[in-house]
Amino acid sequence: MNVQENVPLAPLTTLKIGGPTRYFAECKNVAEVQDAVAFARSRNLPLFVLGGGSNLVISDAGWPGLVLRIAIAGIDERNENGKAIFEAGAGEEWDNFVARAVAHNCAGVECLSGIPGSVGGTPVQNVGAYGQEVAETIESVLALDLRDNQLCELCNEACGFNYRTSIFNTNERGRYIILRVTYALTPGGRPRVQYADLKKHFTGWQQVPTLSDTRDAVRRIRASKAMLITPGDPDSRSAGSFFKNPVLSSEQHEKLRRRAATRGLQIPSYPALDAQHKISAAWLVEHSGFSKGYGDGRVGISRKHALAIVNRGDATAADIVALKEQIQQRVKEIWGVCLQPEPVFVGF
Ligand SMILES: Cc1cc2nc3c(=O)[nH]c(=O)nc-3n(C[C@H](O)[C@H](O)[C@H](O)COP(=O)(O)OP(=O)(O)OC[C@H]3O[C@@H](n4cnc5c(N)ncnc54)[C@H](O)[C@@H]3O)c2cc1C
Repeated sequence: MNVQENVPLAPLTTLKIGGPTRYFAECKNVAEVQDAVAFARSRNLPLFVLGGGSNLVISDAGWPGLVLRIAIAGIDERNENGKAIFEAGAGEEWDNFVARAVAHNCAGVECLSGIPGSVGGTPVQNVGAYGQEVAETIESVLALDLRDNQLCELCNEACGFNYRTSIFNTNERGRYIILRVTYALTPGGRPRVQYADLKKHFTGWQQVPTLSDTRDAVRRIRASKAMLITPGDPDSRSAGSFFKNPVLSSEQHEKLRRRAATRGLQIPSYPALDAQHKISAAWLVEHSGFSKGYGDGRVGISRKHALAIVNRGDATAADIVALKEQIQQRVKEIWGVCLQPEPVFVGF
């Protein structure tokens, strides 16, 4: 394991923001991960596990300890009880894994095409898009438990998946380093075309869309919203959606509905959100004075997506935090709803 010093972190993130880390180690296998953990322990350094850097806001000061970047590669495939079991190293790029699953005609992750980041990052916030979540296909997660330094295999239930949460980003945050994820996919399964944008895309099609058609459609729709990292598209220099869709109680929802009515507005209803008492964070942001393209400085809102805060060039983490707070405050004042950020804040 090679430990480097004073490594800039901004280039390792999709927002391209943040200071350096005091120490940095890229780990290609379990033994290297264990060595890096031992290195941090022996020097009493705080440890941060980095995947693809697509869900992070790193502070301008950077990280005072060790950043351990997971680079464990490899995808193994086998058939078991009618399922295609894929074991993927945590450092594999997520979209490469999806491409491979789709090429092998296995259903279950096609709607998650184009999400940036690593395989190991997917269980952390139970990534989801276009009507699918990884929780539906993750069979188990191999992790290093930092409590006792032992490897452990966590089954799906043990991961505690929920909307954008799991044990890895809630009650057991910082306890596990994810090394490998096992997905159970359906060979020859039909793609899930339930989400409104996808249905619209396939309107008028004579033939039933294949998994590959669905992957292409998702990537195309994502690109139109700058939710696909596209070189040369400044609107994709983001951390994706910056706020989670708030989950409200029936009472809170009713209050919000009445507030909207006094302004002559109607809370939009989407089957995918309604089922879970979720409301659109994008709608709240847009109806609080922050429209697409907002801001003329170094940070602003994407011109293609109201929920993406973008670095327009030379923005600092402080700029990002200032805009985040401005949005949260306005939404709270107008709608009485506290928006929770989706990215992880590091070194603040
Ligand atoms: C343009 C864009 C679009 C996006 N669209 C979506 C979307 O549609 N749906 C969605 O859910 N998300 C989306 N995201 C967010 C992000 O891509 C996902 O959350 C992704 O899974 C993060 O993975 P990562 O490897 O980049 O993790 P990082 O950003 O590197 O890390 C995120 C968190 O996970 C932890 N972590 C990462 N790897 C490991 C590991 N191996 N072991 C333990 N902890 C780990 C980190 O410590 C950190 O706390 C989007 C982001 C961007 C930039």
